[in-house]
Amino acid sequence: MCGIFAISAKENIVDDLFLGTFYLQHRGQKYCGLSTYDGKGINIRTHRGLVRATFTNDLVGMGGTMGIGHTSLLDRQPVKLDSKMGEFTICFEGNIINRKELIDDLKKQGHSFYSDADIEIIAKLIAQGDDFVDGIERMAAKVHGAYALVILTKGKLFAARDKHGFRPMVIGQRDGAVVVTSESCSFVNLGFEIIRDVKPGEILEIDNSRFETKKIIKADLVQYCTFEWVYTANVASIIDGQSVDIARRNLGAALARRYPVEADIVAAVPNSGIGHAIGCAQESKIPYDNVFIKYDYASRSYTQPTQAERDREAKIKLIPIPAKIKDRSVVICDDSIVRGTQMKNDLVVKLRKNGVKQIHARVACPPLKAPCMYGVATRSKDELAAHKKSIEQIREYIGVDGLAFNTLDDLGKALGRPLDQICTSCWTDIYKV
Ligand code: SF4
Repeated sequence: MCGIFAISAKENIVDDLFLGTFYLQHRGQKYCGLSTYDGKGINIRTHRGLVRATFTNDLVGMGGTMGIGHTSLLDRQPVKLDSKMGEFTICFEGNIINRKELIDDLKKQGHSFYSDADIEIIAKLIAQGDDFVDGIERMAAKVHGAYALVILTKGKLFAARDKHGFRPMVIGQRDGAVVVTSESCSFVNLGFEIIRDVKPGEILEIDNSRFETKKIIKADLVQYCTFEWVYTANVASIIDGQSVDIARRNLGAALARRYPVEADIVAAVPNSGIGHAIGCAQESKIPYDNVFIKYDYASRSYTQPTQAERDREAKIKLIPIPAKIKDRSVVICDDSIVRGTQMKNDLVVKLRKNGVKQIHARVACPPLKAPCMYGVATRSKDELAAHKKSIEQIREYIGVDGLAFNTLDDLGKALGRPLDQICTSCWTDIYKV
């Protein structure tokens, strides 16, 4: 997963670019980068680490009226290319499925590669176009996979979303400034209003703080990533018209309706389980309370790049509150169960050690059965608990008194979308495109 941010304004954009990218930090914590156009040339800087920690004292010389920013768990972006259309910088979120075939093709055409990153393939394909819109169209015709991208040239920005709309992208506006970004949570404190989502397949040109649709590449199927609402996106964001907060509450309420249970409190695995737990508590009329606090200085475990880092982060991030646990029956809500090891080795151990009476786990999405091919950090099929085990076997394995998952139908209803308009590959192991 990554976060992308692009801005065109009448004034210097550097503060907005820095903060807008900072508000996408939850989408990737390993690398970050900014690029600006200052009227003469394109500046680019990338860092290993977090936006605030690395860029606070490194914005000198990054001014201009246009810029793009990136947060990533995988690689350094933006990248810069010099092409027949001139210099440009580009960053993207997503995943190319047919990358090997594309690299082989490009090598046959005489291209060399400095990395094996998807962004290099995308940039080289786009650079073959007669202009940037044509280049994006040519790239879109060859790439099988998911992408949302932004391009900074000397004088214009371009933004594009893949024809199925896997990765989110939204347009915002403030007096004299236009922004395109992964999530609308980056608008709120910067004073931007949501105009609309970028349409699946849409290519936008942005300059002088206005935007124009240059093309819409049509597809039979829209496939918004369901995981955005369940886990990935910030709770303050509105993704493709649906509030993440409301979607999570709906998912929690659906769990309470379908799997009623007697308990003293409903609690969350923070932070992403909080919305689900509040919805579950409101629907079941069981009081909501905290049994764990997520330590403020811990990162998201799911978005760490390696399994060892994910395990380490998962282990340190949750601190139990003993007084809330002892002798209580707890309904504990989480967004998903991947391998089940975190719940077994960390949550359940901490709850039992603190004298919990009963643990009833409620999971917002159905059992995960397949890895994501479209750009969300995930595991191999064999690592997924539900790939080999039944729900009863998972319950036994993690050691809880009760375990229930939302059904696929309830998931679609909670998001207010027909199942054919959202990607459900994680749970069905069927890749529709
Ligand atoms: S497979 Fe899962 S994580 Fe990947 S795009 Fe589909 S819903 Fe999202």
